[in-house]
Amino acid sequence: MSKAILQIDGNNFYASCEQLIDPSIKGKGLVVLSNNDGCIIARNSEARKMGIPMGQPYFKSKNKLNQLNIKVRSSNYELYGDISNRLMQILRRNCEELEIYSIDEAFGSIQRPKEKCLYQWGKNLRALVYQNIGIPISIGIGETKVLSKISNHLAKKIEKNSGIFDIGIIDNKDPYLNLIKVDKVWGIGKRMSTWLNSKGITNAKELRDISSTQIKEKYGVVGIRILNELKGNLCIPIKESSSDRKEISVSRSFSYPIDSLEELRQAIIKYVLIASSKLRKYNQLSSAITVFTNTNIHSQDYYKNKATGKINIPTSDSRIMIKISLELTQKIFRPYRKLIKAGVILHKLQSNKYKQKILFNQKLIKEDLSQERLNHIIDKINNRSGRDTINWGSSMIEKEWSPRREKASIIKTTNIEHIPIIYAK
Ligand SMILES: [Mg+2]
Repeated sequence: MSKAILQIDGNNFYASCEQLIDPSIKGKGLVVLSNNDGCIIARNSEARKMGIPMGQPYFKSKNKLNQLNIKVRSSNYELYGDISNRLMQILRRNCEELEIYSIDEAFGSIQRPKEKCLYQWGKNLRALVYQNIGIPISIGIGETKVLSKISNHLAKKIEKNSGIFDIGIIDNKDPYLNLIKVDKVWGIGKRMSTWLNSKGITNAKELRDISSTQIKEKYGVVGIRILNELKGNLCIPIKESSSDRKEISVSRSFSYPIDSLEELRQAIIKYVLIASSKLRKYNQLSSAITVFTNTNIHSQDYYKNKATGKINIPTSDSRIMIKISLELTQKIFRPYRKLIKAGVILHKLQSNKYKQKILFNQKLIKEDLSQERLNHIIDKINNRSGRDTINWGSSMIEKEWSPRREKASIIKTTNIEHIPIIYAK
């Protein structure tokens, strides 16, 4: 038995989620826009085939999208986050280890019976995910993370693989590594691939065969690790825990520049509430908050600023965080600056298992407990009926500056109000 490393990812994830809740889009072209409806950040395979490029500003592609009858959606992270949670739960139940790598990607591991291909195992997992949540996934299998990533590329690239590829049972990997451009190798950034290209290294096979002294001189242990992983020696382990995140960051661009303190305060409160509910979801506490804002980088009087405040007793209480972040907001605000973005970072996170209790003061202990209960009730209601169903008064003011989301789908998986009603006679 040996350990097989898996790399699993949702195909065209954002577009797949949108298709899932609106089957009328199925078979048609679809693109998803970035925050504020800025650029195209995701396409389904139909839109890709029609030649719609990634990253293009929406206003530039609007006509073409109309002509080709391609559907457009604003990004709906609440929906994608919910589908992602469901996907990861199924993967966790079916892998021995699981590392959630991004919203639609995970590394995992399972024991491989001697010399046995895991194709059938992958096929079953793929079917299980599709039956349960309706999202197509690709599965790459190999001896290491780098090889499983390559396998995943091959699973997608070669149609007959139908979404699964296991490079781990192939002795002569050369023909497959030849197909992978060096910049597609996991861990190789733009600068490293330019340097490798200048040395005549263009694909994964050539990279595997480069002398290790040459790569060590230039990229040290990071380069050696990639090389060893390409050779099939596991150097980058699976990191299982997702709860030991170091910080939580929430930031957004405004739909138009704002220049009043009141608007900046409202934005910051909103982001603090999102961040603190995430903190409670992961059973963590924070002991420092940073707030930041900036104007357009191309503007003549470019301005950016941030301020950090310490929280004396680590907390996940929205009320305390709002209070501190509003003091910080006052510090970073300057009149007449046209601010286009703001955000909040909660850092120095720790598990709430070790919460430091306030000693001796009965009144404070009681207050702390009731506050904790209140926060949890708010989270529960918002989880059930949609974000902002109930919240702090200061965050409920009408917000015109909120990011533009003109083409947002209705969330049908996180809000009970959005569940379709079926009438039977
Ligand atoms: Mg993906």
